[in-house]
Amino acid sequence: MKIAVGAFSIESNSFAHGQTTLDDFKKQIYFVGSEITRDCAGPTVELAGAWDVFTEHGAEILPTLVATSSPRPPVTRNAFETISRGIVSAIASDVDGVYLSLHGASYCEHDDDPEGTLLEMVRKKIGPHKLIAISLDLHAYYTKKMLAHADIATAYRTAPHIDLYETGARAAQLLVDALAKKKKPKVFRAEAAMITSAERHDNTKGPFKELIDLCRKAEEEPGVLTVSLLATQPWLDVEELGWKVIVTTSGVDVDGQSIADEIAREAWNRREQFMETVALPPQEALHQAVTSPSLCTVSDLGDATNGGSPGDSTELLREALRSNDSGTFILSIADAQAAARAYEAGAGKEITLSLCDGAPGAYNEKTTITGVIEKVATKKIQYTHPAAGGSLDDPGPSALIKITISPLTTYLVLHSNPVRVIDPVIYELFDLDVRHFSAVQAKSPNGFKVGFARVTDEFRLANTEGPTSADLFTLTFNKRPKPLFPFEK
Ligand SMILES: [Zn+2]
Repeated sequence: MKIAVGAFSIESNSFAHGQTTLDDFKKQIYFVGSEITRDCAGPTVELAGAWDVFTEHGAEILPTLVATSSPRPPVTRNAFETISRGIVSAIASDVDGVYLSLHGASYCEHDDDPEGTLLEMVRKKIGPHKLIAISLDLHAYYTKKMLAHADIATAYRTAPHIDLYETGARAAQLLVDALAKKKKPKVFRAEAAMITSAERHDNTKGPFKELIDLCRKAEEEPGVLTVSLLATQPWLDVEELGWKVIVTTSGVDVDGQSIADEIAREAWNRREQFMETVALPPQEALHQAVTSPSLCTVSDLGDATNGGSPGDSTELLREALRSNDSGTFILSIADAQAAARAYEAGAGKEITLSLCDGAPGAYNEKTTITGVIEKVATKKIQYTHPAAGGSLDDPGPSALIKITISPLTTYLVLHSNPVRVIDPVIYELFDLDVRHFSAVQAKSPNGFKVGFARVTDEFRLANTEGPTSADLFTLTFNKRPKPLFPFEK
């Protein structure tokens, strides 16, 4: 059994400024051909799970190309074409099947549906009869093109996502089983015309748990191989935006459509429950966080780098500079120019910096600070969050700056490249223990709760503005379908 294996994985954000280039992938996870190993994208991600299953079953793994990025702005045409051609050209004509680790909500400057395009290219290469299995993030939006070309599709079941390995292993196992039984599985899809902010996607409680449980129950039906709820990430301006339910069955003779329709209807019936916000006005969120008795995380929802924001919001910094609370707050901002200046100035120096370049009132409003550079660093970070699988990231030249102009002592980690603030590692870059602070900033709608759990379980959500705003009405969608909840009821 010969299986071609590859990955193209990025969650894109249509509202974030900038682009994701090939170089951005190469700084993160980018491997070609024989460079690809089980652990190249991280030991607990989808690729590793699939790899173990193929190895267990004695399949011959034919590695193609693996390109993975943290959530970012739209991918450039050059990056996508290099990656997709790299994957497709490496698929040998005599493979029995193809496994791809995809996100399912990527976006290119020239193509709203790059994953659909990639699957179309793969199908053209291998012909109509060979099998394609894919694993997806739960925030995928599964387009018509993806539906047309994948034979097996399965997504994470957890939010925050902690089942990456299991999801890859499941896709691989279904592919191995189908090849062994000479079956041709089929994916069915239903739509729910809704999007909801990601901080309410929690598989451990409430309406989201109920829907995930329905998927598990449906898998007990004969011939139903896997059922996934796709609670599409909402910061994507595309024509096919909206929640989906996908059902893979053992073949066309099993009715996956009515199962998908039924769960999509159940999601639609619960839509208003996802609008109950738990996010606080930024000033209040910061106040509650710094005055709580032990370390409290305050998540900057509008600048969630885990949803593709650039990490350049100054909103919580401006709140901290105005704060009358005493205590200590540590936060991070990505600004390449300011970080380079602080890095070059070196530790021990007082510095005045103009941060970010947004207009007055913008989430990244230009803000001037004066502080003392405590430490500088230029080394990679290794995420400890389970969803990041131990992968590395490069914040570039960075500095830790202490600002004491308000009663709240603010420690600013200024770094050059955006990073995911889903766990404390960007702060630990400076060998400090975040447990000694009153409050620490995260940049993620939901996943940070798992990543920061090793230092604190306390958190507040700050309803800040930005490309990942929890208030979807603040974003300008041009291409989204209509009607779509919550915009049209
Ligand atoms: Zn996700």
